[in-house]
Amino acid sequence: MADRDGVIWYDGKLVPWREATTHVLTHTLHYGMGVFEGVRAYKSTKGPAVFRLPAHTDRLFRSAHILGMKIPYDKSAINEATRAAVRENKLESAYIRPMCFYGSEAMGLRAEGLKVHVIVAAWSWGAYLGEDGQKNGIKVRTASINRHHVNITMCRAKANGQYMNSMLALREAQSAGCDEALLLDVEGFVSEGSGENIFIVRDGVMYTPDLTSALDGITRATIVQLASELGIKVVEKRITRDEVYIADEAFFTGTAAEVTPIRELDGRAIGKGTRGPVTEKLQTLYFDVVHGRSHQHLEWLTPV
Ligand code: PMP
Repeated sequence: MADRDGVIWYDGKLVPWREATTHVLTHTLHYGMGVFEGVRAYKSTKGPAVFRLPAHTDRLFRSAHILGMKIPYDKSAINEATRAAVRENKLESAYIRPMCFYGSEAMGLRAEGLKVHVIVAAWSWGAYLGEDGQKNGIKVRTASINRHHVNITMCRAKANGQYMNSMLALREAQSAGCDEALLLDVEGFVSEGSGENIFIVRDGVMYTPDLTSALDGITRATIVQLASELGIKVVEKRITRDEVYIADEAFFTGTAAEVTPIRELDGRAIGKGTRGPVTEKLQTLYFDVVHGRSHQHLEWLTPV
């Protein structure tokens, strides 16, 4: 990732990609205390446009507030930086990574006087779970490791260190031949994927876990709104692993994963073992909306 052409927005300036470096004693590198976002820009009829940019920037600031980290820019500066990262790299569509991290002024957990740095990088990134996965569904495995408990870390924050847990779960799933992990909460109820929220469909009704331990996903909120506008009932509730096994359909949502059908969980086919009709309908609508092909929600697109 480090060795490529282009520019990265770094503390208020666009710097050459290869020069966007930091010291090995960078505090966040040691303890994981930092916040970030995952944002996408899509090719639209009016050129590249960032999808739900204000919502992502708001969540970045909320995450920082939870961690007690003071971002030295206002939201409009971060929005501008995000647009610039896409525009100045001449990207038609992009995955965008804003991140705020502590500098190398001091080491140790008591460190004081740490500077907060901000970067925004953007690059081309296709379907996170593969084109085939997006069309035909992916194989998922329940992780032996749980999603964070609310009194162990703060699940509303999209914080760097929290992803160690996600990576352990994902690696376990991948080593068992699956594409993604499903994490349960500490009581054994379904929480989310390693980087996605989950929905199931049963008898035409959609269900998704509440947000006690899962991240408050922007794609999740988008899908809830689009489903309601289609007249599909969406219920937020506790879901058990076996409810997923016997669902008619299941799918993940996320900025990176977009809308990805789940065809199998723990070796059990879900529904017909392929993308279901409700999933397909919402997936199609989601892609129409993010690309500005639908007249609905053009307010969600910010041209770069
Ligand atoms: N859960 C986790 C743990 C995530 O990392 C993500 C990706 N940000 C999501 C859910 C989905 O969130 P969003 O739709 O906002 O990308």
